[in-house]
Amino acid sequence: MPLIVQKFGGSSVATPEKILKAARRAIRAQQEGNQVVMVVSAMGDTTDDLLELAAQVNERPPAREMDMLLSTGEQISVALMAMAIHSLGNKAISLTGAQIGVKTDASYRKARIKSIETSRMRKLLDEGNIVIAAGFQGIDEDFNITTLGRGGSDTTAVALAAVLRADACEIYTDVDGVYTTDPRVVPEARRVSRIGYDEMLELASLGAGVMHSRSIEFGKKFDVPIHVRSSFTDQPGTMIVAEPERPDMAVSGAAITKDEARITVEGIPDVPGTSLEIFKRIADRNISVDMIVQNVGESGKADVSFTVPRNELDAALEAVREGVRIVGAAGITSDDSVAKVSVVGLGMARQTGVAERMFRALAAAGINIQMITTSEIKISVLVRRDEAQKALRIVHQEFELDKEPTTPIEPWTPKSSQSDAADVIARLQGINMEDLTIDDIQLDSKQSRVTISGVPDAPGIAAKVFEQVAAGGVFVDMIVQSHPTSSGEATLSFTVPDEQLVKSVEVAKQVAKSLACKEVTSSPAIAKLSVSGVGLRTHTGVAIRMFKALSDAGINLEMINTSEVRVNVVVDGAAGERGMKQLQQAFSDVMR
Ligand code: ASP
Ligand code: MG
Repeated sequence: MPLIVQKFGGSSVATPEKILKAARRAIRAQQEGNQVVMVVSAMGDTTDDLLELAAQVNERPPAREMDMLLSTGEQISVALMAMAIHSLGNKAISLTGAQIGVKTDASYRKARIKSIETSRMRKLLDEGNIVIAAGFQGIDEDFNITTLGRGGSDTTAVALAAVLRADACEIYTDVDGVYTTDPRVVPEARRVSRIGYDEMLELASLGAGVMHSRSIEFGKKFDVPIHVRSSFTDQPGTMIVAEPERPDMAVSGAAITKDEARITVEGIPDVPGTSLEIFKRIADRNISVDMIVQNVGESGKADVSFTVPRNELDAALEAVREGVRIVGAAGITSDDSVAKVSVVGLGMARQTGVAERMFRALAAAGINIQMITTSEIKISVLVRRDEAQKALRIVHQEFELDKEPTTPIEPWTPKSSQSDAADVIARLQGINMEDLTIDDIQLDSKQSRVTISGVPDAPGIAAKVFEQVAAGGVFVDMIVQSHPTSSGEATLSFTVPDEQLVKSVEVAKQVAKSLACKEVTSSPAIAKLSVSGVGLRTHTGVAIRMFKALSDAGINLEMINTSEVRVNVVVDGAAGERGMKQLQQAFSDVMR
């Protein structure tokens, strides 16, 4: 019999009427011939109210007791849900995290799921019950109650769907699906019928807050199709699956991260280990770093720029100053009035000219790009905060994200879960479900780097450069533009296939001349090392582990970029093989 997991968020169980409505939906699914597991969140704002209550008796409540308290929110809603189903004449039984056997680690308030027992749920389902599981909670080895972090019921739902090999995992919420961007900022945003796990992970990390990131990581890791839909209607919402609705489209979504701050460290020695000294201190403070851009330095010095959440700027600066005391630097600058605009799409990995198109659209609107980083499926630019919303609207329009696809969308069809079941079970054996997993470590030695230095800090420069480069038929892979230094000049580096290096340098020289840049340098012998997997962001420290492994081997980093699913670094070509071995060793414990 098919099995479906239905998750109802806080707003979908906020009142007794809504609980009854959700109950009816589950009963209907059962009557249609499914076994049904419901996962429910705490009613409405219950979790917030509990947090507030705790604050009134203790400003810094012990984490263990906090989890004891917060878990009660879900315990109330599962019990009410079971009663509601009984009142409608059907069989149901509610279970807490502990009763299901959701085993987690012992990190209160952000516990990670290790394993889930399925036998009791199976038995209850076979007896005709609707099983109602409390979301967001589990127990550690010593039977202490733990919670999974705010919004964690999504993660419970997808994890249950994974271990039960459910045919569907439906997430009922107060929005009707995933949009191309935030409809409050861009009213023409469109709901997509389907989006890829990787795209959703990138968008979620950019603050497109439809779902708990960790739930999408589960989806990806265990092939769970996730259906995000409205609890108010029967309309289908958005499927989160491996492939988007239009794999041929370069971009599937766009986002802004408004509250960013930029830090630049100028004139640090360009030797192995400098980035590590700085970033490990930031990681120690649990601050997430994004858009790391490092310049290939002149005269043995490098500049490194990156962004941090605006409210963590002070703490990050403190960490940077500590690091700089050890490695030395010419200066530190920062700016807390910036925002990041990103476009995401699995399709861009297979197309050329996507970045150029974005830069051109922004240039036409006179918006200055302060920094650029690109990865396989994401392009991010840093702009002034007061121009960010406009920038978002412009790129949304440029990539026609508002338009319904004109060519027919291939309908999504579930893979036969039977064939994959064995594979998934094998993957679940002997691992903790939420551990970091690295799928792949790659070495690409077939690329070269071109760097234009002394690039003026004005709108339209990146657009012009890549327009020319594209006109020359060059396929550009990684692009990074550093933040302009105090003298008002930036450095723009990009990688191209080896055989296109001569041509690329030619084009770069022409552009550099026409734009009054300083010089063009290039390196035919670079190696790009990439580590990809699931959990790269939520397990902070993957980039650090990578930097450390390379630094220990005396390998210098020339370019860096990070995304949710991959960290790339460019190193000297001669060090490629050695770097690869070093990384394989550093990640051997988490290779899938
Ligand atoms: N009730 C918890 C929260 O509000 C978990 C959830 O809703 O997913 O964060
Ligand atoms: Mg909630």
